Amino acid sequence: MAGEPQDDCLFCKIVEGHVPATIVRETESTVAFRDINPQAPVHILVIPKVHYANAAALATAEPTVAADVLREAQAVADEEKLESYRLVFNTGPGAGQTVFHAHAHILGGRGMQWPPG
Ligand code: 5GP
Ligand code: ZN
Repeated sequence: MAGEPQDDCLFCKIVEGHVPATIVRETESTVAFRDINPQAPVHILVIPKVHYANAAALATAEPTVAADVLREAQAVADEEKLESYRLVFNTGPGAGQTVFHAHAHILGGRGMQWPPG
């Protein structure tokens, strides 16, 4: 489902201000906030305000907002002065997705290995 805030969705609650978060940027269509369990010195999530279960659903249904998420990821990286960073969309439980509201992870401030775990 997309569109209406989902009662059981943590990130919809952050968008609505019902769950606190350290918000670093906000636009008409997106919110960026610090991850509660950072995996790098900089670990920020960018989400669309509208609920989509994952990045694939977002890109199909709202490509303009999907582009907004990518643009905001770069804006966050600029603000955090990250020359290099990793942009991750875990998509599906097998890839480590635990919150089923589309989000981009911006990870930076340390060296990164490839392949990822
Ligand atoms: P996923 O595993 O779905 O790709 O990423 C979900 C992310 O949300 C995880 O990195 C997790 O640490 C973060 N997270 C979970 N609960 C909260 C919360 O209440 N607040 C914030 N700021 N991040 C959260
Ligand atoms: Zn949601």
